Amino acid sequence: GVTGTNGKTTTTELTAHLLRASGIAARACGNQGDPVAALVDAVDPAEWLVVECSSFQLEDAHTLHVAGAALLNLAPDHLDRHASFDDYRSAKLRLFRNQSAANLAILPAGMEPGGAAPARRVELGAATSDAVAWGEGGVHVAGLGRVAGWDELQLRGAHNRHNALVAAALAAHAGAGAAGIAEGLASFAPVAHRLEPVGSLAGALYVNDSKATNPDAAIAALGAYDRGVHLIAGGRGKDTLFDELAAVARRACVRAYVVGETAPELAEAFERAGVPCERPGTVAAAVAAAAGRAQAGEVVLLAPACASLDQFADYAERGDAFRAAAHAAGAR
Ligand code: ADP
Repeated sequence: GVTGTNGKTTTTELTAHLLRASGIAARACGNQGDPVAALVDAVDPAEWLVVECSSFQLEDAHTLHVAGAALLNLAPDHLDRHASFDDYRSAKLRLFRNQSAANLAILPAGMEPGGAAPARRVELGAATSDAVAWGEGGVHVAGLGRVAGWDELQLRGAHNRHNALVAAALAAHAGAGAAGIAEGLASFAPVAHRLEPVGSLAGALYVNDSKATNPDAAIAALGAYDRGVHLIAGGRGKDTLFDELAAVARRACVRAYVVGETAPELAEAFERAGVPCERPGTVAAAVAAAAGRAQAGEVVLLAPACASLDQFADYAERGDAFRAAAHAAGAR
């Protein structure tokens, strides 16, 4: 079971991929894909289900018992729905409540699972006593040793390194071996709309991170592309703040292009932080404006930090619009 504010789909898909690369039957399901209930009696009991769990689903989960559970991170999101940040955290922690001591519980530093399983961590630096995986120059898994170097992964950014460590630990807990995990980490391509490169034009790279639907995810994207970025952001707000995003953009971005309902609020935050900002209003107009300015070596990045529902049916339609506009501008 995988939950967290950001990285659920990537980590869920990657965990299933690592298991299959190790010759173990597995499928990703849950929030993004088949509902678990639809798979009852439809799957071979020997097949692992890697279940993506949203806070909305966990609110109503009473008997769910997962062999391996990971809470990737916790940042403000969906505060328009949950009564408070505490409620949001409590919903996420329900993933752990039926676990036993033999199960694996991976949590961020300082958080405890609340069930019977002792907390284990993944560390982006050196191993600690409770680390189940750590990232010194590459992926290390307790009991398996070093399984891959960072440069062997197609995924980019520190956030994806964290996702990779969690996926490797979960897969190992379900029986995956070092060779299968290494092969799977190397062959896993970014899921569509998650830092998905869609083409290049005049030496500038166009990257679709439409799934960055909260400020924290957009900040993670700016960690992966941290210089020369033309950032397209905005959409429907979720009562989050944009000041931290603007501060990170100050270092990473050449210019911001704001769209959708949050455009005025975002423009104010960017301008306060000293980031040059335009207000093209739509994703298509933003791509056209950025294409007119982006230089060789720079990146045109859609990382909206907001929901899509003001102008699109969902984040995928928004990402498709970005990709189509990039291609219309000539990106290949
Ligand atoms: P989710 O299913 O939780 O929305 P995804 O894997 O679809 O997660 O990723 C959504 C976005 O969140 C990505 O586009 C990326 O910008 C960002 N992201 C992914 N993993 C992390 C992470 N571990 N920490 C912070 N941001 C992340």
